[in-house]
Amino acid sequence: MNLTDNSQRNKVPYYQYSRYLKDRFQEKVYKLPIKLNLTCPNRDGTCSRGGCIFCGEEGGSFENLDQRSVKDQLRENMAYMGSRYKAKKFIAYFQNFTNTYQPIEDFREALKDCRMENIVGVNISTRPDFLGKEYLDSSAELLQGLDICYELGLQSVNSHTLEKINRGHGLAAFIQGVLDLKSYGFRVACHLIMDLPWDDLLDIEEAAKILNALEVDEVKLHSLYVVKGTKLDRMVQEGEVDLLSKRDYQDRVIHFLEHLNPNIVIQRIIGRAPKEATRFCNFGESWWKIRDEIIEEMNRRNIQQGSLYVR
Ligand code: SF4
Repeated sequence: MNLTDNSQRNKVPYYQYSRYLKDRFQEKVYKLPIKLNLTCPNRDGTCSRGGCIFCGEEGGSFENLDQRSVKDQLRENMAYMGSRYKAKKFIAYFQNFTNTYQPIEDFREALKDCRMENIVGVNISTRPDFLGKEYLDSSAELLQGLDICYELGLQSVNSHTLEKINRGHGLAAFIQGVLDLKSYGFRVACHLIMDLPWDDLLDIEEAAKILNALEVDEVKLHSLYVVKGTKLDRMVQEGEVDLLSKRDYQDRVIHFLEHLNPNIVIQRIIGRAPKEATRFCNFGESWWKIRDEIIEEMNRRNIQQGSLYVR
């Protein structure tokens, strides 16, 4: 997909995930979130205790069904999404916590359960420093013929920021993780928070350039949520950290997209979180309004994803 080709560009000035899925499968495809009963090595003491300073009890996911078997979650979600959006094909998405931090037998069973009619791909969220060979071998073996994408939380490319937010890994672990996944031929998605107060515009630009160099396939951008009861919540309440403005967030997203290879797929330019769980989320506005304003501003300034991309 080449967004610099005017004939292929529509109003949205970046390579939207929905468009990628249509290019890839020639029809609508929806992601179905799956929740497993897991934790994270950054919470249980293996890497660190307490987790990332912004992470709540849900482990980075607010959109899942309750604890049921993988097959039941997929069936139920498929029926709902299929009738609501008229979709016939789906991607199974292991969304919460660290999916490669569970007994290998359980991981293998979960993957086997994804082999259902109309499931065309499997996305697996995890940390870049927990990509054990047996998990990657199992993915290649059990998901043969399906699209496989590993979604890695990174949040920032600045190692000082990663330390501040207690990620429990640095940038090098992410680079190694991407190289390992690429050696299996898997797709790689990267999750980034654009408005971490310890990052500046140079970090944002560098993030785009690092993802370009590593040939990461997809990106998901979020704003910084303050989930009630987290360490970040306390830091904000006690005035230890000042949150950035909506305008800062939008400027950073645009700056990031300008420097990003136009062939990298953008899953989202802003995330969603329920109001009840958060003290501060998306600047008190709806995600789609913030997204639309970014698109409008990019169009007004004639900016597209990759406008400043240099190979
Ligand atoms: S790595 Fe993910 S699940 Fe673990 S503490 Fe951080 S945000 Fe939460």
